[in-house]
Amino acid sequence: MVLKVKCSECGKDFTPTDEQKKFIEESKSRGMELIIFECGSCHRSTFYNPQTGRPPPDMKGVVYRCPVSQCSGKVSYIKYEEGPFWGCDECGSMWYDKENLLKEIDAIVNRFTYRRKCYKKVRGKWEPADSPVEPDDYYEMVAEEPDDGTKDFVRG
Ligand SMILES: [Zn+2]
Ligand SMILES: [Zn+2]
Repeated sequence: MVLKVKCSECGKDFTPTDEQKKFIEESKSRGMELIIFECGSCHRSTFYNPQTGRPPPDMKGVVYRCPVSQCSGKVSYIKYEEGPFWGCDECGSMWYDKENLLKEIDAIVNRFTYRRKCYKKVRGKWEPADSPVEPDDYYEMVAEEPDDGTKDFVRG
């Protein structure tokens, strides 16, 4: 049977990539009830409950560029009743504490200066830059970054 996902944003059904299928399977077996990844149709972040196979109702938020090396996904704030968190739609990373997300942004902009344009500092804290924010060749440059070796979805 071919797995289809209904996008929480555009409402269309799409077939997840092999990588996304793996992510869905892993999340399901770990008992996770909410994950996000990119819609194959509209390319926005789609929200998905691996236990029910459906999008959870009503999820939107502030969006940061993901501070994980090799990832050019977007991190959204998700108000989930079991506890809100920040999650990336591409690599699946999650942060329960915003301070830890901000620390990773600090680290990545120090390592890769082109990433700095994706954020702005407001009263000493990182916020998403006003769009459009990606420097030319952003995706190519990010794709060439070395792997940071972290395998856990939950990063802080
Ligand atoms: Zn969509
Ligand atoms: Zn990511």
